Amino acid sequence: MSFINQNIKPLNTKRNQKGNLEISGCDIVDLANKYKTPLYVIDEVTLKTMALDYKKAFKRYEKANIIFASKALMTASIAKILANLDFGFDVVSMGEIYTLLYAGVDLSKTSFNGNNKSKEEIEFAIENNIGHFSADNFLELEYINEIAFQKNKIQKIHLRITPGIECHTHDYIKTGQIDSKFGFDLKTIDKAVDLIINKYKNLNLTGLHAHIGSQIFETKVYFDLVEVLVKETKRIKDKFNINLNEINLGGGLGITYTNEDNPPSVFEIADVIIDSIEINTKKYNIEKPSIYIEPGRSLVCSSGFSLYTIGSTKVIEGVRKYVAIDGGMADNPRPSMYQAKYSAEIANKKEENKPETVTVAGKFCESGDILIKDISLNNPKQGDILCVYDTGAYCYSMASNYNRVLKPAMALINNGKSDIIVKRQTLEELTQNDVVLDRLK
Ligand SMILES: *Cc1c(COP(=O)(O)O)cnc(C)c1O
Repeated sequence: MSFINQNIKPLNTKRNQKGNLEISGCDIVDLANKYKTPLYVIDEVTLKTMALDYKKAFKRYEKANIIFASKALMTASIAKILANLDFGFDVVSMGEIYTLLYAGVDLSKTSFNGNNKSKEEIEFAIENNIGHFSADNFLELEYINEIAFQKNKIQKIHLRITPGIECHTHDYIKTGQIDSKFGFDLKTIDKAVDLIINKYKNLNLTGLHAHIGSQIFETKVYFDLVEVLVKETKRIKDKFNINLNEINLGGGLGITYTNEDNPPSVFEIADVIIDSIEINTKKYNIEKPSIYIEPGRSLVCSSGFSLYTIGSTKVIEGVRKYVAIDGGMADNPRPSMYQAKYSAEIANKKEENKPETVTVAGKFCESGDILIKDISLNNPKQGDILCVYDTGAYCYSMASNYNRVLKPAMALINNGKSDIIVKRQTLEELTQNDVVLDRLK
């Protein structure tokens, strides 16, 4: 049996009687015609099933809090769907906090992360009753304490640490190693604890936080991470006589983008984490802490896909055939940024089965704007609808207006129904902040 993060496609993906791709009861060609391409689509059924799988997987550990790493996909409706399932949020900017407030989500279960939070952001978060901060550095401790003091609050914080754990993933998405821009290393953490206890009276330190990277396929790194955090908790307890009763293990569970990927399921990860807590709290003789888990990619990625229309093609005899689409690196920068791979298929009916190996090129003015290199597609032709899977995470949230192309719309589908949850940008919106100086007229 495979679980959602182990599947390339959303639940209930098939060919319908017309021969078109159908996902969650929606004909994909109809969707593309109705909302135009490029289009981001999220299947609510797959998203909710994955969210509930996360809850089930950690159910046997009473003190588990699952918070969504918003940076993977933050829109008001997505926030509301997850908040309705009792999820908290991990945020990294005022914009993400503002979106939660805009969606009507209260911030009590929100954790504020990031390695360079501004005073303005910290103030905004505290004013809006953020649950806690994952404090990343000395400057931030000073800021949070000062602002909490001004507002007459005691602010709960965790300390983000770099645990010195290396995982095997792309360099740009590794964060647990010692040479990282994030968090306190194990040598400076005592100084931070000392300051909090003796100087920063408006901070309430309740736990340690670490996030070791993204698109992780190994379970052992999570076992080891729990040990590092439990061991540090015990050491700090003995040295400073303070009980930290929370640990935050970050996110990072991988998903299946192509058949080459083989991630563990969320149930396997949960078992490793919970077992490691049982074993290591005994080994280091501390009480079992509350835990936080912060999935981003694995929670939302497989429920999302992108639709494009194929335009021009270029054949270089004996080299390759390029098939160009009406989107690319501005709506999905991952392939050009870190050689990310994707699976895709033609959504409309094809009379015959004529698989052809082609390279899917974006429309942006960079040679590196290649969405998928060497993929087998069924006789791709101008006007065909291309469905690219697993674009739920880190696509919309990383999208840009490069080449002044409009950001696509996002549709939410659910058992045959579809709604727009993010409207397509307009040309007016694109230029509304541009100022044409009088003296240039
Ligand atoms: C990015 C990030 C996450 C989520 O990572 P995924 O790989 O998307 O699960 C969780 N916690 C922190 C602190 C992060 O920076």
